Amino acid sequence: MTNAVERVVLTHLQIPLKEPFRISGGEVAVKDAILVTVETGHAIGLGESSPMSAGFGYSDDTPEGCWEDLCERIVPRLLGQTFTTTEEIAALAESWEGSRFAVAGAETACWDLVAQGRHETIAEMLGAEQSFVNTQVESGLAAGLYPTIVELLKTIEAHLSAGYRRVKIKIAPGLDVELVRAVRQHFGDDLPLMVDANGAYTRADIDVFRELDNYDLLMFEQPMAAADLDGLAALQDAVATPVCLDETADSLERTAEALRKGAGRVVNIKIQRVGGFGPALALHNLCYSEGVACWVGTMPELGVGQAQGIHLATLGNCRYPTDIEPSSRWFVDDYVVPLIELTAPGRLSVPTRPGLGYLVDPVKVRRYQVRQREFTTAVN
Ligand SMILES: [Mg+2]
Repeated sequence: MTNAVERVVLTHLQIPLKEPFRISGGEVAVKDAILVTVETGHAIGLGESSPMSAGFGYSDDTPEGCWEDLCERIVPRLLGQTFTTTEEIAALAESWEGSRFAVAGAETACWDLVAQGRHETIAEMLGAEQSFVNTQVESGLAAGLYPTIVELLKTIEAHLSAGYRRVKIKIAPGLDVELVRAVRQHFGDDLPLMVDANGAYTRADIDVFRELDNYDLLMFEQPMAAADLDGLAALQDAVATPVCLDETADSLERTAEALRKGAGRVVNIKIQRVGGFGPALALHNLCYSEGVACWVGTMPELGVGQAQGIHLATLGNCRYPTDIEPSSRWFVDDYVVPLIELTAPGRLSVPTRPGLGYLVDPVKVRRYQVRQREFTTAVN
């Protein structure tokens, strides 16, 4: 029995969504994720690589690409390795070639292993040097684009009784001010509300945001394309509502440049997009040192990925509700035990068992798997 990685199992899962999720850049009806199980002689670490299916607008990462990266370029370099600190995990992850979503799957499993070995939760490991750690994590409701405003209002209404701490609606050119006005009229001015454009606007649309500026929104999430830092800065200059960097915040370097340019005042951190807990923590700490609030977004991931976000959101500079929602919000089922659930109105509990604090349900993993591959160090 050693601390070296002896076995890695990759399982590609597909779980149908309850309703299609539509944003300005595409639509998806099935959630893909790759469960990454990393085993030593002592423990099993869980990770998830959670790209959306091809053609959906968040990023270029796909389940097929991540599967190949993990099989060909990451797992062969993980087998046989020993690591007991997050610095050692970071050094190892540096050596992996592959998309950040693929790296995140393996990196997060390694964090789970190290946390279990130290008898700490991942939240504790993330916050070890911070004296300010949130003890509860807030859940925000996200609603996609709907064919009619009535359907949007009905969806929000149906979920609001769960006590979500804020509502985020997707907008797209031509589907913006009217939506926000309707939500404000229906649910009142006290509802914490924000919009997410997924990069669908340009500098020519600044007047749309001048109008939206009158609706007391928490933030405008990614109004313009990820790389249009000057456009985002021009917009932030023109409005009082904070601009939130989401797709832009795909690396420490670009986020730092965006903040220097005044392209936003809030940052949405996604573990998948930056390549795991280590880079996500670095992004959080950059925001803190720049005096910029951040919060934890999702793809959304399946259970293991969402649980990772709960741990990250305990960090003190995460000052807005997360996008982490219960398993039952989007998916017909989930493969984690327990399911991700609100344990108080609008609130998620931080697991207290060492590591991630969640298990997988082997029956459900079998039920939803599309393919599985096992790698071992054993020589026969
Ligand atoms: Mg977003």
